[in-house]
Amino acid sequence: MQNPNERTAWHEQARQLSIDTRALIGGARVELQGSARFDSVNPQDGSIIASLVSASQVDVDAAVASARQAFSQGCWSQLSPHQRSRTLLRLADQIEQHREELALLDSIEMGMPVSTSLPDIAVASGIVRGVAERVGTLSEQLLPSAPDTLALNLRVPHGVVAAITPWNFPLYVALAKVVPALAMGNSVVLKPSELASLSCLRLGDLALAAGIPAGVLNVITGLGGQTGRLLALHEDVDCLSFTGSTATGRLLMQYAGQSNLKALLLECGGKSPQIVLDGLDDLDGLARALVQGFVWNSGQVCVSGTRILVARALYQPLLDRMVGLMEAMRGGDPLQAATQLGPLASEAQLRRVGTMVEAARSRGGRIATGGAPDRDAGLCHYRPTLFTDLPHGDALMQEEVFGPVAGLLAFDTPEQALQLANDSRYGLSATLWTRDFALANRMARQVRGGPVTVNAVASPGPSYAMGSSVEPAGASGFGVEGGTAGLLAYTRAKSLHFRLA
Ligand code: NAD
Repeated sequence: MQNPNERTAWHEQARQLSIDTRALIGGARVELQGSARFDSVNPQDGSIIASLVSASQVDVDAAVASARQAFSQGCWSQLSPHQRSRTLLRLADQIEQHREELALLDSIEMGMPVSTSLPDIAVASGIVRGVAERVGTLSEQLLPSAPDTLALNLRVPHGVVAAITPWNFPLYVALAKVVPALAMGNSVVLKPSELASLSCLRLGDLALAAGIPAGVLNVITGLGGQTGRLLALHEDVDCLSFTGSTATGRLLMQYAGQSNLKALLLECGGKSPQIVLDGLDDLDGLARALVQGFVWNSGQVCVSGTRILVARALYQPLLDRMVGLMEAMRGGDPLQAATQLGPLASEAQLRRVGTMVEAARSRGGRIATGGAPDRDAGLCHYRPTLFTDLPHGDALMQEEVFGPVAGLLAFDTPEQALQLANDSRYGLSATLWTRDFALANRMARQVRGGPVTVNAVASPGPSYAMGSSVEPAGASGFGVEGGTAGLLAYTRAKSLHFRLA
């Protein structure tokens, strides 16, 4: 392709995509047996991209059996960490070589502008490299013991890991689960969101091309209430790694309990605070960052900072600037390189956002800007929306909207800010803005949330390259992601004791 930054070039490339909707099981693309189907719909214009099959019990059994067989044969699980690491580095190469196709698939399926999806694929391949490099540094632990004994602590793979993922960063979130699981020797069955499956299906092809043996990574498509449920209830799945809504996370805990007590990792919803402390002077830059903190990816970001708590002295100047910036924002065609604001992922999501905004308005919430769809921009666009004067206990300040909608509230003391920030059933992440680093350090340690970001916009995932680890709290779920602890989350502890004499 000549120039990927030109609108016509992206549209032309989208037209030329050859889309294979078949599942990947046992190293081959196969037609699923299920009778239920669903469409992948472009949220920018409502066009149907593809029709996919929702995997049935027979299909789920086949995918899990394929993963189990590969695991038991040891073609991957018995390799050394260094051998797996080398293969994962080749997977990173494959992802980078196909980055435009992968970015395009995410953009047409869930509306993320290519200006976001292309760098997102680069970050995603960084996850693969980060994990590949880290897995080679893990060591088994020799325990102090008597001269005639040898004792070791080991970490062993669970076996078959099922990964169920959402649509907001389709490939990125899938890689954040699949790659650590693979690195530790597990076999995987991936079920992406029904709204955005295509980049994950291509990931299956790329894994094979990189040399990951057949059956080690399987990708099946399907509806959550059918295929997802069957996977979560499956007796031969050892670990279920999920990212998605808290409501689905609750169901998965029940399914694990009803079936084989499979291990669970749940990354669920959030309602994260952005706390702005007094004494800041670059208010233009700060306003830009605060808006980006909840409008990026049209607000469909788990760590979106949607409760904006501002020191009273800065409240009005920041409100004025934020409203100005938000009113200047224009949604656009995701396949136009200049577009920063795309549509929501589906008409259902547009309705959900609209309903929550209307309900808050009817409870007396004042809308400083936004509060309506933006039909001129495309089918599922919603205007960036800012509420003021909502009580902190209002549902809009407590429930995840998953759209470009936030509430702004003033506080008088840092203690009050901390109390408000922690007044949430969620505990996913938090952002602090201040020049007082002693105060930032104290508050960052006390605020609920896995990643706490100071003086930068929160990013959605842990940095595998840096090795940071995060774990949600409360209704945001549990289970570590990122760093060495995030790799160990895909293992069980085991110990060996040898009597030598
Ligand atoms: P969702 O819960 O509706 O769906 C997520 C996945 O679960 C999809 O693959 C879906 O098919 C599947 N699913 C749905 N019902 C199921 C069931 N009964 N049994 C098994 N699987 C089922 O979430 P979504 O709407 O796709 O994504 C948005 C949510 O994801 C938001 O709440 C967001 O905060 C959350 N999210 C969290 C993080 C994080 O790291 N904590 C990251 C991204 C998204």
